[in-house]
Amino acid sequence: MDLKEKIIELSQEIGISKIGFTTADDFAYLEKSLRASVEEGRNSGFEHKNIEERIQPRLSLASAKTIISIAVAYPHKLPVNPPKSHYKRGKFTPNSWGLDYHHVLKEKLDKLARGIEALTADFEYKGMVDTGALVDTAVARRAGIGFIGKNGLVISKEFGSYMFLGELITNLEIAPDQPVDYDCGDCTRCLDACPTSCLIGDGTMNARRCLSFQTQDKGMMDLEFRKKIKTVIYGCDICQICCPYNKGINNPLATEIDPELAHPELIPFLELSNGQFKTKFGHIAGSWRGKNILQRNAIIALANANDRSAIPKILEIIDKGQNDIHVATAIWALGELAKQPNEAMIQMVADIDSEHPDIQAERSAFLAKYAQV
Ligand code: SF4
Ligand code: SF4
Repeated sequence: MDLKEKIIELSQEIGISKIGFTTADDFAYLEKSLRASVEEGRNSGFEHKNIEERIQPRLSLASAKTIISIAVAYPHKLPVNPPKSHYKRGKFTPNSWGLDYHHVLKEKLDKLARGIEALTADFEYKGMVDTGALVDTAVARRAGIGFIGKNGLVISKEFGSYMFLGELITNLEIAPDQPVDYDCGDCTRCLDACPTSCLIGDGTMNARRCLSFQTQDKGMMDLEFRKKIKTVIYGCDICQICCPYNKGINNPLATEIDPELAHPELIPFLELSNGQFKTKFGHIAGSWRGKNILQRNAIIALANANDRSAIPKILEIIDKGQNDIHVATAIWALGELAKQPNEAMIQMVADIDSEHPDIQAERSAFLAKYAQV
């Protein structure tokens, strides 16, 4: 068994779903589109900033010869549904259900690296996940993990697009794999289904218009996106659900998943203190942007679910005034839920005494729409 075969065997023992090997040659062809994304303001801001490092693996590891790309598949169906509840539930999307995948992948990359160290002398490597220097999808494509779909995700026949990606840049000399021989063909389902038309069609996107980004961005969510998130409080996977390559895929659990956390009851979610949030949700991937952004989304989700039983909670948020963005979002949600707000509600909004620009904007919009002239 040669080194490559031994590494593949090792990866299977570690629980890596798919492994591929490619050269450490530059990804020069990416430079134009990476620069265009920055210049046209299409980046989410979560990307690695140095473009040279993004396309030149040897800037991360001078002795680099081979990049080992790994994929860990995750399920998109809950093993069991959460119990019935009189509360409306929100949704985290599947990539955020389990333990933070950065940790999951890092642990697997570390195990792989330690295993390779035991197999070969003078092993040098640098591991990367998601926000590392390299573009994970470009590495995975070249290493034969899958193709990059029009939805920008790496898609394999075995696991669909439900894969977390990471890589080890190494100094090993290993025969590279070939890219897969299948692709999107004429399909345009994800382009047609994307609610914000943010997919450009060549595998790139305007990340700032993506609902997944919108659910993770601070401040007010633009009015244009509020209805579009429906009851999803973290992520968006419409361009995955509609993809034919994901039909019939039933990936195994990468980590334990609690259905109550994946689809939380929205009103109780708004009542969580910082400490309670940390204890209950702190370990799942979808919690990384913190409680306040998710609670803002939960307020929007209650309006989108048309949950009129949430009106007292919405009024309480406005009344307590603990978080300016929550108050401003709650004013909008109150209008959506009450449809015809009563005098007391209108008076309550009229009486809000805040200099915060978002509260002022939502207050003005509410009063312009509902207050009698
Ligand atoms: S995640 Fe949602 S908003 Fe983002 S590209 Fe896919 S369908 Fe569009
Ligand atoms: S939905 Fe169609 S076009 Fe979009 S990624 Fe899947 S196969 Fe490609």
